[in-house]
Amino acid sequence: MSKHKIRGFWYWCRVIIIQVILLIALMYFCRSSALQKQETILVHTDDVPSVGIEQKQDVTYKVDPQKPMIALTFDDGPGMYTQSILAQLKQYHSRATFFVVGRNVKRYPNTIKLIKKMGCELGNHSMNHADLLKLDEAGVQSEIHTVDFELATVIGKGADLFRPPYGNVNELVHQNVSVPMIMWSVDTTDWQRKDATQIKEYVLNTVKDGDIVLMHDIHPFSADAAIQLIPALIEKGYQLVTVSEMAEARKLTLEASVKYFKFSPN
Ligand code: ZN
Repeated sequence: MSKHKIRGFWYWCRVIIIQVILLIALMYFCRSSALQKQETILVHTDDVPSVGIEQKQDVTYKVDPQKPMIALTFDDGPGMYTQSILAQLKQYHSRATFFVVGRNVKRYPNTIKLIKKMGCELGNHSMNHADLLKLDEAGVQSEIHTVDFELATVIGKGADLFRPPYGNVNELVHQNVSVPMIMWSVDTTDWQRKDATQIKEYVLNTVKDGDIVLMHDIHPFSADAAIQLIPALIEKGYQLVTVSEMAEARKLTLEASVKYFKFSPN
């Protein structure tokens, strides 16, 4: 009888220990899946289509070399506001150039595809927005070439243009860039102004035929400014074209590793 009682005691001990272990395992599982869910919310991607833009090239779009034109350029994206700029470009039968950062290409592959399908242009703006002046040759090469690799995995080819982060270029950068380097003639300093109306007014008061305008599609105020600017520039008689289209309209053949700031009419 007493032997039975002892066996019963150890049996219940084992049951309680197993239940405690199962409870701890269950708590751990719940916590890690909650953290994973939180991470998904924090890291924004465009894997779920967010804007219902028809993914087609605008067949009515045609550059008239005789008419004034401007190349709007957007750096550092793609980001969560890029698709709203694309929607406005589409509505006004316009195009722009996007100098993308490689790490964002990975996060926004659908936006990259949309940029391409709309006939907008993609440029390389380094993998991690590094200051290339601070890197050795291997570092410079890695920053430039990995973006093209990321783009190729999404759209089948790398970029035909390059814009150095901060506009910083030295001899080493020149030696390792095999496409034209596109700078800008109108710097909106949107990241400093932080106000859509101010950015818009500055551009409207400054731009001339052939200008390349620098903006950033990673800020909400820049996207708002672009959304207001696109119809306002068209109203002023400008065509909004890509960098390569503007060069072609001005009969310029862009050369590898040469810096270009604007394509003014002759
Ligand atoms: Zn930049």
